[in-house]
Amino acid sequence: METQQTGWVVLKFGGTSVSRRNRWDTIGRLAGKRLREDGRRVLVVVSALSGVTNELQAIAYAPAGDDGGIPARFAGLVERHRTFCAELGLDPDTVLGERLATLVALETDPRAAVRALDWQAEVLGQGELLSSTLGAAYLSSQGHDFGWCDAREWLDAVSLPNASEWAQRLSVNCRHHAEPGFVERFSAQPTRMLITQGFIARHGDGGTAILGRGGSDTSAAYFGALLKAQRVEIWTDVPGMFSANPREVPDARLLARLDYAEAQEIATTGAKVLHPRSIAPCRDAGVPMAILDTERFDLPGTRIDASAATVPGVKAISRRNGIVLVSMESIGMWQQVGFLADVFERFKRHGLSIDLIGSSETNVTVSLDPSENLVNSNVLEALSADLAEVCRVKVIAPCAAITLVGRGMRSLLHRLSDIWAAFGRERVHLISQSSNDLNLTFVIDEADADGLLPHLHHELIRSGAMPVRDDSVFGPSWREIADGKPQRAAPWWQAQRPRLLAMAAAGTPRYVYDLATVRERARALIGTAAVDRCFYAMKANSHPAVLRAVVGEGFGLECVSLAEIERVFQAIPHMAPERVLFTPSFAPRHEYEAALKRGVIVTLDNVEALKRWPETFRGRTLWLRLDLGHGEGHHEKVRTGGVAAKFGLPLARFDAFVDEARKLGARISGLHAHLGSGIDDPQHWRGVYASLAGLADSVGTIETIDIGGGLPVAYTPEAREFDLGAWRAGLDEIKAAYPRYGLIVEPGRYLVAESGVLLLSVTQVVEKDGVRRIGCDAGMNALMRPAMYEAYHGIHNLSRLDDADNAAFDVVGPVCESSDVLGRARLLPKATEEGDTILVADAGAYGMAMANSYNLRALPVEEVLG
Ligand code: ADP
Ligand code: ASP
Ligand code: MG
Repeated sequence: METQQTGWVVLKFGGTSVSRRNRWDTIGRLAGKRLREDGRRVLVVVSALSGVTNELQAIAYAPAGDDGGIPARFAGLVERHRTFCAELGLDPDTVLGERLATLVALETDPRAAVRALDWQAEVLGQGELLSSTLGAAYLSSQGHDFGWCDAREWLDAVSLPNASEWAQRLSVNCRHHAEPGFVERFSAQPTRMLITQGFIARHGDGGTAILGRGGSDTSAAYFGALLKAQRVEIWTDVPGMFSANPREVPDARLLARLDYAEAQEIATTGAKVLHPRSIAPCRDAGVPMAILDTERFDLPGTRIDASAATVPGVKAISRRNGIVLVSMESIGMWQQVGFLADVFERFKRHGLSIDLIGSSETNVTVSLDPSENLVNSNVLEALSADLAEVCRVKVIAPCAAITLVGRGMRSLLHRLSDIWAAFGRERVHLISQSSNDLNLTFVIDEADADGLLPHLHHELIRSGAMPVRDDSVFGPSWREIADGKPQRAAPWWQAQRPRLLAMAAAGTPRYVYDLATVRERARALIGTAAVDRCFYAMKANSHPAVLRAVVGEGFGLECVSLAEIERVFQAIPHMAPERVLFTPSFAPRHEYEAALKRGVIVTLDNVEALKRWPETFRGRTLWLRLDLGHGEGHHEKVRTGGVAAKFGLPLARFDAFVDEARKLGARISGLHAHLGSGIDDPQHWRGVYASLAGLADSVGTIETIDIGGGLPVAYTPEAREFDLGAWRAGLDEIKAAYPRYGLIVEPGRYLVAESGVLLLSVTQVVEKDGVRRIGCDAGMNALMRPAMYEAYHGIHNLSRLDDADNAAFDVVGPVCESSDVLGRARLLPKATEEGDTILVADAGAYGMAMANSYNLRALPVEEVLG
């Protein structure tokens, strides 16, 4: 790697960054600041005004002989630039007269008639020539010491072997190793600051060459490399490179720091924010890059250099559209020698560069990326005709390539099961795993890719494949940057620390529940206008005080066993039975009979029960639980719908159930579906209500629709609080559409999770092979969720809450199982020692409820506050 020698800094401003007067003021300020900082020199590289290259491309690529629209486009471009010139307070004739005359002359240029490639390049290059001319005039008018230079005098296109004529004119690479004296000659220009064009270079024949769409980034990189600049800054309309396109995935996270290889991979696989060819020149010359936002110019952005830490895990998910797949079936002999050579030779003949490859014994499928190739129908027809000589050809287009990028993709496969599952629902044409282990790509039909990325991004975070908690790489999400970071209220236990420490001193493991938190959550749900009744799913936490608190707020109770029903009437002897719902799974007959005798509402979810136990259900009023065919939720093990789930009557048997019930004179008065737990999408429930309401109409006796629970809790530091407002709005809307049914919800976790903490005592602190572990007096025996669902719970050393000298520890329990781990790599005080009190947060739901005495360890005790 060469050492940096010069004081040049290169700043590149994209289309949106040069299309407003205030942005040019920012450009002037930023350039001036760089100049003053260390007496550097500044080169500003600019794109065309936004949208201008699209117009020029429409002119350049219009089919020969079809001039409709071209004169109007030229006129529009002249008007646009004259207007902007006036907005900048400049005289259009003086500043742009000559340039606009050159632009307009291209319309009648003799080469225009045949759409000659060199003419196309001249046309395309006009946008940057205009914007840089405007910019130089404006910046000078504002008192900045700026000169203008023609990029074509400094950037030379190189012709690569086998490149098509098109690529050699309209998608060129440039020399980026400077000839001796380059820096001196460039630096001899009189002004300390210079402005030049992105996107254009000098062709070997002296004409204009184009760097390909988005190529201004690459112009800046070439200048950076040639000038051995201190830094290349890419100023655009987003504050950095994100883990996905932030416009498509609002939860995409800023990638604060990347090395060249990962940045290269993310750019190549579709992150438009950086042109894929811009990284190699900077990497080769050892020039660091930064991606920054012209509008939010004080944010730190993304830094790309050689010293970024290499953190394993998925960093980004990107998507490329317009991918063309060419599938080639061998017609000769199986594994015929030279088949691939024959096939690839034909791509070479047409100057087409191949991106992905999938192969089997008789088929080879390859993809062509439109940003690297001219893939119009003429080219594809000619290619297909040639290929037909050696194989059967099928062209599949348009496709989308969805790529996961990150270090060590192969070692992450076990975390990607939900990603595979998501693709399992689509038609995947090709899967490709790069040999550098940096990417994994799925090619599907373009139409199928819409809406998929936010879901996949979410799954990557949830599964831990994208290590978003590593703040050496990941910054805030786009949503947080745009809307401000949501302020989460401090958890209740912080204010109760002395009391909790005293309770821990009385013995651990110990669950402590804060009833005020339970009541607060209960009130938020009870106050939902569209909801007619709320039931608390008591399996989450059946502590009598918790039951009394929620019932006191107006909730009914949902039970899944006879013992739970009995607990209800013990805790609240005067509870009205119709406020109790019994929704068991595979319960024995006598439990249904006892429940019916009690007068509580009974839900069934299969026809077999009706058939085998007719006397139990004859003449009764029942609710029916349905499986709507799919499950949702935070983990495979909590999804309670779909073929793999044991719950619910499948829709195909709905009529059979209704008939059977009729025969017994049983009345179906309620329909219920509960598809899973921890569902983030606030719109999920309105969909459930709509499906059930549609069915209810066909039964005739339905009064009530129960859309289940499943409201999520923000367990992880990066999770957002559930958007109760959006949830309510969705329910309001759907209730207005089907007002005749009573709407019921039955959350469990949402009411109690945050109300509970588990207090533990540290038994031992041990380091083994570089891993530090804090051992506690209970683990998976007291709190099963991490072992069972890989669930995350915040873990804190309550004895040393303010100690900021932290190290990463695994927090483990005393049970003889490898899965007895409450949390991995948690930052906890280095000084943690035997006897300290550890607090496991958000443990009020499915904590004590699932605790067990495995290894003959005692169950935790429970205590209630307020
Ligand atoms: P400019 O005109 O400044 O060159 P571009 O439109 O070429 O800007 O690139 C910026 C755009 O790239 C953003 O507005 C964003 O929509 C898109 N983009 C796609 N993927 C990513 C990503 N992973 N991170 C950031 N931006 C991305
Ligand atoms: N103006 C060119 C384009 O729109 C180059 C660039 O903006 O990077 O493709
Ligand atoms: Mg760009």
